Amino acid sequence: MIPVTKSYLPNKTKYKAYIDRIYDSGWLTNNGSLLKELEQRLKEYLGVKHIILVANGSLALQLAYKSLELKGEVITTPFSFAATTSTLVWEGLKPIFADIDPNSFNIDTNLIEKNITPETSAIVPVHVFGNPCNVEKIQEIAQKHNLKVIYDAAHAFGTEYKGQSVLNYGDISTLSFHATKLFHTIEGGAVITNNDELAQKIRLLMNFGIVSPVKVNSLGTNAKMNEFEAAMGLCVLDEIDLVKSERAKIWQKYLSELPYDRLSFQQWNDDSFNNHAYAPVLFNSEIELLNTEIKLKENGIFPRRYFYPSLDTLEYLKSDRICVISRSIASRILCLPIYPGLSAENRNKIINIIEAS
Ligand SMILES: *Cc1c(COP(=O)(O)O)cnc(C)c1O
Repeated sequence: MIPVTKSYLPNKTKYKAYIDRIYDSGWLTNNGSLLKELEQRLKEYLGVKHIILVANGSLALQLAYKSLELKGEVITTPFSFAATTSTLVWEGLKPIFADIDPNSFNIDTNLIEKNITPETSAIVPVHVFGNPCNVEKIQEIAQKHNLKVIYDAAHAFGTEYKGQSVLNYGDISTLSFHATKLFHTIEGGAVITNNDELAQKIRLLMNFGIVSPVKVNSLGTNAKMNEFEAAMGLCVLDEIDLVKSERAKIWQKYLSELPYDRLSFQQWNDDSFNNHAYAPVLFNSEIELLNTEIKLKENGIFPRRYFYPSLDTLEYLKSDRICVISRSIASRILCLPIYPGLSAENRNKIINIIEAS
């Protein structure tokens, strides 16, 4: 079976050495030494001021909204993973969908202002498949209307924009380190900010609001990453260049050999490079996508319909917005297998099946 992605498993001997360290220290979680080491290394690798490691990407988003004390309505994108929206609802916020740009697949910045009301407190865009949003325009709108900006940057690990980390934009950016992501810690995530006070506040919020053994300062939750997860992160980080180059090679083959008359591709931001977190291809119609998907599955190849369905169609939301572009893209997009270890033979098989279908 060839899945859309395979969780990257780093060198086992190295991972075992970290496990030995955990056993020797007896320290399993709660701001342990491996977690601190990973925070420091990621801070340098990504080029960010504060990075706070947490239990998963969804909690990273929830901590972001909570720390910024968001209220009322939040303008967001319908073309994303369910968590972008569900975390808002979970925090008592109302997602308001602005449709996407048909080329970048990111929120259409021309539609943000139209959706601002006196109830709006923030904008939550997504760097879809790692492709940077129009961050300057979003910043300008946010400043003009006094809104907070939280980027769901779950796909943007290592993505640079104009020569620096795209994670430096907005009040907060969040990452997911789930096992299926480009960089992972089994389960995990991170909150990134340049704001010292906000970073301190998030560290309180994620640990029950406890400031000392005898003082609970404020409301809090439990969003801690444990030492076993941090150890996995340290091992994957050692091999991240290999992970990225292997993915880049596969994508180059797809780009050069897939049929351009029947497929189109996401238009990447001119000031950035693709991090190859995903391999999305866009079909001309949903029927063509479904036919190809059947053929691939018959051959043991399991691509994924990321992102489907468009979030403005979620029944539990009862959203009154109809985002036609997002619905159209969602119905025609397929993410192809891309991971280190995908053999040239299997990659060619995928290309041949798509060509022939
Ligand atoms: C994976 C993902 C999340 C959620 O992250 P988890 O670590 O799985 O909780 C949020 N947003 C986007 C866009 C994602 O792809």
